[in-house]
Amino acid sequence: MTIGWHFNNTYSKLSDIFKEEIKPIPVNSPELIIFNERLASELNLDFSKIDKNQISKIFSGNELPDGSNSIAQAYAGHQFGHFTMLGDGRAVLIGEHTTKSNDKYDIQFKGSGKTAFSRNGDGRAALGPMLREYIISEAMYGLNIPTTRSLAVVKTGESIQRETTLQGAILTRVASSHIRVGTFQYIASRQKINDLKVLLDYTIDRHYPEIKDSNNQALDLLNLLIERQCNLVVDWMRVGFIHGVMNTDNMTVSGETIDYGPCAFMDTYDPKTVFSSIDQTGRYAYCNQPVITKWNLARFAECLIPLIDKDQNKAIKMATETINSFEKKYEEKWMNMMRDKLGLFGLDDKDKFLILDLLTWMHEKKADYTNTFCNLMDLETDEDHLYNEKNFLDWKVRWKNRILKGNNSSEKCKKLMKNNNPLVIPRNHKIEHALEAAENNNLKPINEILEILQKPYTEQKGIRDFQLPSKSNKKYQTYCGT
Ligand code: AMP
Ligand code: MG
Repeated sequence: MTIGWHFNNTYSKLSDIFKEEIKPIPVNSPELIIFNERLASELNLDFSKIDKNQISKIFSGNELPDGSNSIAQAYAGHQFGHFTMLGDGRAVLIGEHTTKSNDKYDIQFKGSGKTAFSRNGDGRAALGPMLREYIISEAMYGLNIPTTRSLAVVKTGESIQRETTLQGAILTRVASSHIRVGTFQYIASRQKINDLKVLLDYTIDRHYPEIKDSNNQALDLLNLLIERQCNLVVDWMRVGFIHGVMNTDNMTVSGETIDYGPCAFMDTYDPKTVFSSIDQTGRYAYCNQPVITKWNLARFAECLIPLIDKDQNKAIKMATETINSFEKKYEEKWMNMMRDKLGLFGLDDKDKFLILDLLTWMHEKKADYTNTFCNLMDLETDEDHLYNEKNFLDWKVRWKNRILKGNNSSEKCKKLMKNNNPLVIPRNHKIEHALEAAENNNLKPINEILEILQKPYTEQKGIRDFQLPSKSNKKYQTYCGT
């Protein structure tokens, strides 16, 4: 029976400093909890003739597919600003699968047991956080935001010890690669320029073939990553996504969002919003995300210095200038993103005031970020009384005048808004509810939420219930789930 795996494992062929060859540690009694048939089919994989038992064995790592060659990848990273040696301590890359259209994807098991990089950890993961990653990564995909994907979650039938005893689980993560800023940091810290050049070549070959023949590949790579990460963080800001743990090991060189630990979406608009219980200083608060993106990119630039120019001073100067292009780029992209959210075409000197005045109003009135834009699209929301407030109505007059100035039809403006303002986001209380049910073997809520979040820009039956923020006043907190 052929599933359609087509492995061509290039990373495992790199020298030993890049990885440890290791198999997933088998688990007791694997049980498939959730499986992403759509993604499987996008990957040209067909599991329709395989029974659930067999699928459980595959996605727990108990039976590896032919052609897989599993490894744990080495990387380092700045965690909350502090440099540490890390690596896949609870994950293995089972191989790189190539689709019929020749796209290559890493297939990784997260929670698959100890590796050489486990330090004091048990190499395992708990069911709740793995399902949470599944929901949010698939929601991000639905929102058209670059992200790693989730193919399956399997319960291991083993319990793991955290603050309490939890059910163990393994997530199958699919990514265009798992190369991180931290991967470059790991190799750069060893100060062997040949290895660094290997990683540079590998990365360009895999993600940026357009600069293969360029005169300064390292500098061009830096520019391209600045561009991609800038687009990514603007997308996060657009939908109110807060990553929560933007350590350099959690930033990919592909520009995909990765590592859905303590992330969550903002309800009430407040730029200082932080959900993560360990982010005491608000380093990764909503409004800090662009600042941290630049900070992480500067760490990436540091790794590339020896490859940018033989003359170190010259290389530093070039890298610094490149990094300093970030703010202007971000500002421009952010402004355009906000214009799109407001259905504004063209540029106007006063756009910035118009945008900032709306955000200030939302902040003052504790308005829901997503639903305010729904209101502007003439959709009913639960807080309609708030939107009859005088300052908001005055602001709306200015906004409507600005729309008229562009001379565009209202349909055209609405269409632009509809493509940029989700009607539904993963609401925190809804996720918690779905996870709690799943812990107790009820998968209905999780399947419902996944269905709705697939098309967040489209009116759907039953969507209303998913649009409402929580009524509870209790501050929502998230945990790393390690
Ligand atoms: P994360 O918070 O998922 O980005 O992980 C940070 C680092 O801790 C990575 O090197 C992980 O592999 C490692 N890690 C997280 N959880 C575990 C665990 N349960 N066992 C071993 N290593 C872990
Ligand atoms: Mg990580």
